[in-house]
Amino acid sequence: MFPETIEDVQAIVRYANKNRIPLICRGAGTNLVGACFCDQGGIIMCFSKMNKIISVNRTDMTATVQPGVVVGDLQKTVEDVGLFFPPDPSNLRVSTIGGAIAQSAGGARTFKYGGIKDYILDLKVVLSDGSIIQTGSNTIKNATGYNLGQLFVGSEGTLGVVVEALLKLIPKPEASQVLMAYFNSIKEAANSVNTILQNRFMPSTLDFMDGNAIKTVERFFNIGLNTEKDALLIIEIDGFACSIDYQRESIIKILNQSGASGIRYSTTEEEAKKIWQGRRASFAATAKLKPDVLTDDVIVSRSNLGTLVKGIKNICDKYNLLVSIVGHVGDGNVHPQIALNLDDKEEYKNYKLAKNEIYKLTASLGGIISAEHGIGVEKKEFLPNVVHGLSVDFMRKIKKVFDPKGILNPGKIFD
Ligand SMILES: Cc1cc2nc3c(=O)[nH]c(=O)nc-3n(C[C@H](O)[C@H](O)[C@H](O)COP(=O)(O)OP(=O)(O)OC[C@H]3O[C@@H](n4cnc5c(N)ncnc54)[C@H](O)[C@@H]3O)c2cc1C
Repeated sequence: MFPETIEDVQAIVRYANKNRIPLICRGAGTNLVGACFCDQGGIIMCFSKMNKIISVNRTDMTATVQPGVVVGDLQKTVEDVGLFFPPDPSNLRVSTIGGAIAQSAGGARTFKYGGIKDYILDLKVVLSDGSIIQTGSNTIKNATGYNLGQLFVGSEGTLGVVVEALLKLIPKPEASQVLMAYFNSIKEAANSVNTILQNRFMPSTLDFMDGNAIKTVERFFNIGLNTEKDALLIIEIDGFACSIDYQRESIIKILNQSGASGIRYSTTEEEAKKIWQGRRASFAATAKLKPDVLTDDVIVSRSNLGTLVKGIKNICDKYNLLVSIVGHVGDGNVHPQIALNLDDKEEYKNYKLAKNEIYKLTASLGGIISAEHGIGVEKKEFLPNVVHGLSVDFMRKIKKVFDPKGILNPGKIFD
């Protein structure tokens, strides 16, 4: 069903509730964990007709949006008036605000600017009985009782239906520049990032590609990357135009001192895009190795990043799986992209075993199994291994309070 108004949503929810029909919200359907998978039948409520930016307030620096607004469209609209909405799932040309809220999306800029959860001031949410609540206020601060808005962030459509969001905006940085540098290992790249931060620089992105990702991109896209190297660091700096040269030269000095080679930086927007091209193409390149590709979003502290990446490589080698690894050094967030043939039973079995070991390794390093993609159906069996048992019990109790009949996206996050 394609609601056009909040009243439409309320009517659909009331009907589903009365008849105990599962109700699955859908933005662009791009989530990576089966969060809008409809395995029990039911109504799919798609927000493509509730896709309006209702208002942008330049004085308060806020935007009021419907849930189906595409993240990239909002970014462009606010940037045209000098404002900035930093959350940037890399599929932002299609994915929606409702989906980003429900999956607690992040992206490459999260380390400096935070994820979607940091930009929510107020939500209008239709509850499972069709009533509507407002979770916050049109103010930057709010210490007035429980923070109900954050409860819906990452709830994957299991607690309520977001029908309107009041989002915080910030001033758009005046200028930006992209640098790239090669290292002999991810550990060396991570150490270099630590030195950059210790010297009080705060790049807007600190992304990496491992040796396999570099080789795979080069094999299929031939963009001139150095395939001899085991790590590529991509750094984006931003701020006032007058600060860019100082930031860049200081960072280049640190990179040189920490063993980097092949350092380059953009002087035009075209060159910046070219530097990002390799990182952006890595998923598509890995997809060309086998009929299917699956990615993940495990996260550890930055100090454990090198150990996690090495461990993932060893696990994939053990199970004979092709993996290229990319991620965000600032956050310690790793995306192992595994190419496989899902119709090959042996390979799929190996993938499941490898995934289990990757999650165990992540947990043993004090990390967690989802940084930004969510749990959905894909990871629910692993949730009790990484979240305290009592916490999972409380999540279930919260679900019961908001959705006593269990109609909202049943079977997601936990059974
Ligand atoms: C190529 C690719 C790259 C990606 N890169 C990143 C990345 O860099 N960072 C990152 O964080 N994520 C990334 N993602 C995952 C990203 O979180 C999701 O793709 C995106 O946020 C989902 O938006 P969507 O509109 O497609 O939502 P959908 O997939 O349609 O839905 C996601 C969830 O939201 C629920 N939902 C949708 N609308 C509502 C609503 N109005 N109210 C309540 N629940 C709702 C759905 O029921 C479902 O549970 C990537 C995905 C892909 C495919």
